[in-house]
Amino acid sequence: MNFIEKWLHIIRNCSFDNTYKTAWAKAITEIAIEHEAIYDSDVTIEIQLREIAKNVLRYYFEQTIFFDLQQSANPNKPPMMVTIVKELIASYRTRSGSVKPVKWFRSNIESICPEDYKKAVSAAIRALKSDVSYRFLRIEGKEVDGVYQYERKADSLYIQAENLNALKQNKLIVLDAINYRWTQMLENFNHSPRLSKKVRIIDEDQVQRKSLSKFSSYLEFENPECVCFLCCLKIEGETPAIDHVIPWSYLYSDDLWNLVYAHQSCNSSKSNVIPSEDVIQRLEQRNIALLQRMKQQGMNDKHVSELEMANEKNFVRKFWISCQG
Ligand SMILES: [Zn+2]
Repeated sequence: MNFIEKWLHIIRNCSFDNTYKTAWAKAITEIAIEHEAIYDSDVTIEIQLREIAKNVLRYYFEQTIFFDLQQSANPNKPPMMVTIVKELIASYRTRSGSVKPVKWFRSNIESICPEDYKKAVSAAIRALKSDVSYRFLRIEGKEVDGVYQYERKADSLYIQAENLNALKQNKLIVLDAINYRWTQMLENFNHSPRLSKKVRIIDEDQVQRKSLSKFSSYLEFENPECVCFLCCLKIEGETPAIDHVIPWSYLYSDDLWNLVYAHQSCNSSKSNVIPSEDVIQRLEQRNIALLQRMKQQGMNDKHVSELEMANEKNFVRKFWISCQG
């Protein structure tokens, strides 16, 4: 096997206990991609665990702050890395005063909470040393050799320049394989939809949240009095917010059957709370009434057929049940 075949072999066969090995593989691959090309193939390159740890923290930070994904089988005993990241997120929210999910690079976390950031990096390095660095190379009890050199408990690993170059040249295949494996693992621990999209989105610069204004005309149509779905009072003197009843972080999709008008303040105070059964019942009734109105008006676009399907297939209730885990 050449280096890339070995690397892919490890990724495809790494165990399903938690997602550490995929995070580790992704971090090293990204370091390789950013590394300047070295053409002398005999050179050995040092990669510090500190650099790997920073990448790994970023993946878990974003998967947690946006989607609250579970990274191992037991929710009561999350992997150390997730605990580290959750503490960092809590500290970030306190210091920045914002509960809005944010990409790692846009968070300025290093300057907003420098002490907690430093602590998180050190803790992540310890977790990688004790759980990942040397285990990564072991597949079914056998060590795959010729991948990198690592002394147990050391602060760096060493990898041949030509192997780094190979990772760089094959980055699309390698990152796809890693994301695919990561998604497969998450499927064991999470019931939320669109997991592969949630994993892949971390590679993109910005998590796109599309404008919901195209839904306004439909919502207004069913709710001309502009009543807030959350507190049931009239919305006056402000543009109504469009609220996802089942949290966006869970569904990762904008669908008419899940969208309602709300006060700006009601909308921002609830964030990712799972709605009560009473709310779900009201949403189901709303959807039936909305579909009826749309049909009476002779509407016949894709929103009508999507809403019809959602009503027939009980999407509201099904997704509500599954988002409770
Ligand atoms: Zn309200």
